[in-house]
Amino acid sequence: MNRRLGLGGKGGERDTMTDPEVLLGACGLYCGACYHYRASLPESEHLLAEAARRGRSLEGFACQGCRSQARYVHPGCAQCEIRACAQSRDAVHCGLCPAFPCRRLLAFKGDGRLHHRNVLAHLEALAAQGIHAWLAEQAQRWTCRCGAGFSWYEEVCHRCGAPLDSYGPDSTVTVS
Ligand code: SF4
Ligand code: SF4
Ligand SMILES: [Zn+2]
Repeated sequence: MNRRLGLGGKGGERDTMTDPEVLLGACGLYCGACYHYRASLPESEHLLAEAARRGRSLEGFACQGCRSQARYVHPGCAQCEIRACAQSRDAVHCGLCPAFPCRRLLAFKGDGRLHHRNVLAHLEALAAQGIHAWLAEQAQRWTCRCGAGFSWYEEVCHRCGAPLDSYGPDSTVTVS
């Protein structure tokens, strides 16, 4: 396994629909369950409607994933210090960094946002399982039994109405 992939790879533009690596956040987030990413996919009207209901800016609701810098990354993540730090250390994710878990990462985990609270466990699993096995597991974890993907705070499947094992309800998080 290549443990030292730089963010964005060397080939320029990458395709989120065919290259799951773009959905790996250096911090241990799975971008495939992020509402900013999911809103860029078909069947995203429910996410956009929820954002509008909460009065959120729709800026960034077309993110292509942490590693897709040749396309579009949400401003909050494009300027993320963890992402930049991992890139400067040539680490594909923080779980491969000798300083793991550093204070910056611990602060991120403990900042109160529900989708941040598992990042250390994610990074440990990533280091143990490898990137592709972890990404495949996450893709399954964030897919309803009907086949529809869902995001961190969706409590009911937008397609079939089944209850979802999400982090919801989203009462505190206002941005990624
Ligand atoms: S906003 Fe951040 S966490 Fe969400 S998909 Fe984009 S890079 Fe990933
Ligand atoms: S020092 Fe911290 S933020 Fe930077 S790559 Fe290592 S674990 Fe990640
Ligand atoms: Zn469903």
